[in-house]
This record gives sequence, C-alpha cells and structure tokens, in this order.
Amino acid sequence: MATRIIKMEKDKKIALVAHDNKKKDLLEWAKFNRDLLAHHDVYATGTTGKILEKELGFPIKKLQSGPLGGDQQIGAKIVENEIDFLIFFWDPLEPQPHDPDVKALLRMAVVWNIPMACDRATADFIISSPLMDSTNERQVPDYDAINRRKLKV
Ligand code: PGA
Repeated sequence: MATRIIKMEKDKKIALVAHDNKKKDLLEWAKFNRDLLAHHDVYATGTTGKILEKELGFPIKKLQSGPLGGDQQIGAKIVENEIDFLIFFWDPLEPQPHDPDVKALLRMAVVWNIPMACDRATADFIISSPLMDSTNERQVPDYDAINRRKLKV
C-alpha cells in the first residue's frame, strides 16, 4: 500500500477531551503530568479546557464544548495535521447527545494514525514515552494514490 510520512515536531500539539464523568480523572492525570504537558501546545474542548487552564495555570487553546461541535473541531484539526495526539477520556457507561461526533473523532484519529489514549493507563504510557520529547514521523496511507488507483484516474 502506498504510504506517506507525516512529521511530528519535538513540541507536540496535544488535544485533551473528557466527558463529564471523566473530567476529574483527566484533571488528576493532567496535574500529575503538568510539567511534561506545559511545553507542548495544548488544545481542549470548551469545558475540559476551562477546568484544565484554571488548575494547570498555563494557556490552553479552547475550542467549542464537545456537544456543540468541539469534537468535530478536533477531528478537523487532525485532518489538517494540527493535532499530533489525542487524550480522550470518553465515558463508556453513559450515552452522549453527540455520540456520532465522538465516533467520528475516534475514527479520524485512526485514519490519520495519531497516538490516542482513551484511558489513564494508556495516557501514562504515552506521556512517559521517549518519543514524546523528540521529533518523529508517523506513516499514513497515501489516500490520494489509493483513490487514484481505485478510480483509475
Ligand atoms: P467539554 O466537551 O469539554 O466541552 O465538556 C467534551 C465532550 O463532551 O466531548
């Protein structure tokens, strides 16, 4: 399969999202890892971002609240290569009004092969990885080439 390489800089563009029942968990995790997070570019959905910014004390780029389109904004940023990895503590025990957006965001993260943690254990492994502090590359399918072949154009 044709692939192409996307470069990730030393300072990463990180998106943080947590559903309401998971916000406390994310906040605890982010506080514990505050110094590791601080030198990266941190994005978050609206409510998550407000809570984190207040507690962590460094600026966070806040998007819309999740149910109002924030998840879709993060998905679009992944497509535009403006997000390098995603910490998304979604709630497996409660339906969300924006379930289709949640699914779409999870899908975009996989389409564009970005590291994604949906629970604290995985987030711990990612944040402590030596890859966090170096430039690196990720491979994605070359969707243009694949489409050209499929459509024979
Ligand atoms: P919120 O959105 O940070 O605005 O609560 C999170 C979500 O529900 O996706």
